[in-house]
Amino acid sequence: MSRFTRFAFGAMLVAVAASTLYAQAQPDYQQTVNAAYEKFRTLKEGKNADYIPALAKVDPNLFGIALVTVDGKVFTAGDIKTEVSIQSISKVFTMAQVIQEQGIESVEKQIGVDATGARFNSIIAIEGVRNVVGTGAPEMNPLVNPGAISATSMVRGASADAVWNKIIGFHNDAAGRQLTVLQDVYKSESDSNQRNQAIGALMLAYGYIKNNWQQAVDLYTRQCSIGVNAKDLAMMAATLAASGKNPVSGKQVLDADKVPGVLAVMATAGLYDDSGKWLYHTGLPAKSGVGGGLIAVSPGKFGIAVVSPPLDDAGNSVRAQRAITAISNALGGNPYAVRTR
Ligand code: GLN
Repeated sequence: MSRFTRFAFGAMLVAVAASTLYAQAQPDYQQTVNAAYEKFRTLKEGKNADYIPALAKVDPNLFGIALVTVDGKVFTAGDIKTEVSIQSISKVFTMAQVIQEQGIESVEKQIGVDATGARFNSIIAIEGVRNVVGTGAPEMNPLVNPGAISATSMVRGASADAVWNKIIGFHNDAAGRQLTVLQDVYKSESDSNQRNQAIGALMLAYGYIKNNWQQAVDLYTRQCSIGVNAKDLAMMAATLAASGKNPVSGKQVLDADKVPGVLAVMATAGLYDDSGKWLYHTGLPAKSGVGGGLIAVSPGKFGIAVVSPPLDDAGNSVRAQRAITAISNALGGNPYAVRTR
C-alpha cells in the first residue's frame, strides 16, 4: 500500500466512524414519529368531551401526529387530514394577536399571566381574581376560558366582522392556509354555552371585559370551532418554535420578541391544572383543546401536534400527551435538558 492509499483508507475509516456516531446522536425523526404512532395506536384510555354535543360524535379512533421542524421539514403518521375543532388551542393565537397588536404588557395588565390552579371553565377562579383586581396580581391568564374570552374582547376592530377577520387571519397565517369554521360545532357550542356566557358576563362585571361581552363570547365560540388537522396544528406550533415565522411560508406572523411571553403562558397554563405535571415530563410549552388536539413547542427545534379526541379528567387528550412526550424526549426536545459537555 502506498503512503497515499494508506492515508485515503484511514481518512475513509474516520469518515465512516464519524457518520455512524452522528447517526446515533441524531435520532431519525420519521422513525421516531412512526414508533410513537404504532405504540399508542391501540391505547383506548379517555373519553371524548360531551358537554359540547357535537364533540361526542367525533370518531374516538382518529389519531394523527405531525412534526414540523424550524427549517420546514414535515414528518407525519396516521390521519393528518381529518379536521377537528381547534377549541382551546385557539386561545394561544388570539392571545398572540393581542400581544402583537398591543404589546407584551397588555395581556399581563388586563388579564394576568398566572395559573388559576383550577379547571379551564372554573367560575370559582373568577371569584378568586375579583379579590385581587387592581393589585396587579391577578391569578388569571388568557388560556383558561375567563381570560380567553377577555383576550378575544381585547382584539380591536370597528365591528364583529373586523375583529373576526383579524382572529381568523392570524390563525391562517400560523397554519399557512385558509382555515374555516366547522359550522356544526359552532352551532352546537352556541346552543350549549350558557356557562361561557355566565363567565363573559362576570368578566364584564369585574372589569376584565370593557364592553359587549356577548360579542366576545360569540367570537370566542367561533374561534374554538375553527377546523384544523394535525398538520395545521404542527405548523402553528412550528411558527412559535421558529421565532414567530411560519417555517414553510416564510411569513413573520408574530414578532420574534413577543414569542417568549406567549410560550411562558403556555408553559404555565397550557394544560390547565395539569400544566405542572406536563412540564415536569417534557419541558415543553404546550396547549390542549377539548376537540382532542394538543400542540407543543420545542423552541428553535420543532413544533409538534397530535389529534386524538379521548380526554383525561383534566380535559387533555390522553394519546396526544403520551405520543408527544415520547417523541419529544427521544428527539431531545426538552429545553431544560441541554447538555453543556
Ligand atoms: N370551546 C371550549 C369551551 O369553551 C374550549 C375548552 C377547551 O378546549 N378546553 O368550553
